[in-house]
Amino acid sequence: MNMELSRRAFLRVSGAGIAGTSLGAMGFGDVEEAQAAAIKPFRLVNTTETRNTCTYCSVACGIIIYSKGDLKKGEKADIVHIEGDSDHPTNRGTLCPKGAALLDIVKAKTRLTEPMVRRAGSDTFEPISWDEAMDKIARAMKADRDANFVAANKDGTPVNRWTTTGFLAASATTNETAWCTYKVVRSTGMLVFDNQARV
Ligand code: SF4
Repeated sequence: MNMELSRRAFLRVSGAGIAGTSLGAMGFGDVEEAQAAAIKPFRLVNTTETRNTCTYCSVACGIIIYSKGDLKKGEKADIVHIEGDSDHPTNRGTLCPKGAALLDIVKAKTRLTEPMVRRAGSDTFEPISWDEAMDKIARAMKADRDANFVAANKDGTPVNRWTTTGFLAASATTNETAWCTYKVVRSTGMLVFDNQARV
């Protein structure tokens, strides 16, 4: 037995084997051959597999994103299918209904794909670059912290609190990213800190 065989590959192979064996055992050998001849080409052939994490909640199920389009040839990549990663220790290939509908997020016309800003006096949002967005956020945070940071309480006890800005983090991250985020946010003195996980 090939011990390198992944769980996903094993399920694929064993699933085909079970179907064939069952039909053969019932005396449907010809049917089995006809069925095999009529099978359409596997729709994920020639796609690129990318492992990722479901964007929705803190369970952080592993997913595989299948895309078409060769970037090396200047083609635009297009995601054509998303499914649970059966090699992932958290979900072992399963997804809840929200995770199973992830492709709808990717294709949604209302999905934000770039930072937007509503400038002072304007009533509409306009796109800006990530560099400009990060600069604006950093400057706004520094200005607010400089103005409102509480180094000590009325008794003179050091408290190092910053309560006028909050931080909403993502739950769909690795432990390492979450650890770094927590350390950075708390090191600023920020107390209002949450994420979108339903916990
Ligand atoms: S939303 Fe569903 S599929 Fe996505 S991480 Fe949570 S439980 Fe997993």
